[in-house]
Amino acid sequence: MAAPLTATPTDLYGLTLDELRFLMAQWGLNPIHASRVWNRLYLGLASTHDEIHGLPERVRAGLSTHARLGGLSVSSLAESTDGFTRKYLLGLDDGERIEAVLMRFTGRVTACVSSQAGCAMGCVFCATGQMGYRRHLSTAEIVSQVVHVARALALGPEPSRLRNVVFMGMGEPLHNYDAVMKACGILRDPSGLALSAARITVSTVGVVPGIRRMADERSPIHLAVSLHAATQDERAALVPAARKWPLDELMDACRHFCDTLKRRIFFEWTLIEGRNDSELHAHQVGRLICELPVQVNLIPLNPTAGYAGTPTRSEAAKRFQRVLSDDYGIPSTVRQRRGIDIAAGCGQLASPS
Ligand code: SAH
Ligand code: SF4
Repeated sequence: MAAPLTATPTDLYGLTLDELRFLMAQWGLNPIHASRVWNRLYLGLASTHDEIHGLPERVRAGLSTHARLGGLSVSSLAESTDGFTRKYLLGLDDGERIEAVLMRFTGRVTACVSSQAGCAMGCVFCATGQMGYRRHLSTAEIVSQVVHVARALALGPEPSRLRNVVFMGMGEPLHNYDAVMKACGILRDPSGLALSAARITVSTVGVVPGIRRMADERSPIHLAVSLHAATQDERAALVPAARKWPLDELMDACRHFCDTLKRRIFFEWTLIEGRNDSELHAHQVGRLICELPVQVNLIPLNPTAGYAGTPTRSEAAKRFQRVLSDDYGIPSTVRQRRGIDIAAGCGQLASPS
């Protein structure tokens, strides 16, 4: 017998394929049709029930009753003048708004997605931190952002497949660990979007228990740690979360990650002129991380309303890079600036209130 109607329909984009099969059986629908539904979700990138075609009428009707598809509505869309970046402002059911960004770099396209509405970590230079914490996103809300970007790409003038996802949008992904990791599992499913784990990166402000959990669970997902300073006092002034998870504990967790998984970590360093961009700073970070397998991503500060700092100039960024490479053998890149004119750069995402 079919399960009773629930008040809130289940979002199909929050389910693994096994869960979909199980729930279809619970709803009195033959689970043999689950693969077809899955196929329409992740190969057809369906956004409405009508796009899940090829099902017997009874199954289609049952799904419409019990299930829904990604409750995101596009409130606005902005495209950078260079055409490389597109930012979607997405509305959630309860009125919260989040942002997802599609970025085109030479030879690759990346979706930058949010893990929370707002953020509790309060980094002084980040627009999301400046707006404060609203709530965690569900797995369905995370997967739906990726599907949304993948659909935009597939339907664009030069259709292409999405292969890279970074959790560098709004929020702290390791503060919403379970929902984020479940979403990563769904995105990796070989019969769905089939993203490679090596092309999914979770960026954390340094949530030590989350880093340790990734290592202990043998997570295949790539890890980026936002460092920004190489002494506890300087870091705590930029990243209040460092008071809870001090630098020495963070470095121990990073070592545990690299040793356990035999994988490298990316360190992110937002370059702020006169604050953390001197050669001395480069030596400090070099000494701190040189014994780990690492790559450093330098991000010149992007402007936000609540922080007066200015980005490091390119000569100083090059000097910083030279110290890292010549004195410590550490590879680094300076992040290509993308979407600054539409406030879609790192740390610029905040929903208008
Ligand atoms: N919460 C996670 C991921 C989202 S922020 C984290 O902090 O890592 C993604 C990246 O943008 C982080 O490295 C963050 O430090 C950086 N960032 C935040 N504000 C920025 C700004 N104004 N300019 C440049 N980078 C910024
Ligand atoms: Fe949160 Fe990351 Fe912004 Fe810090 S930089 S406030 S952790 S989103």
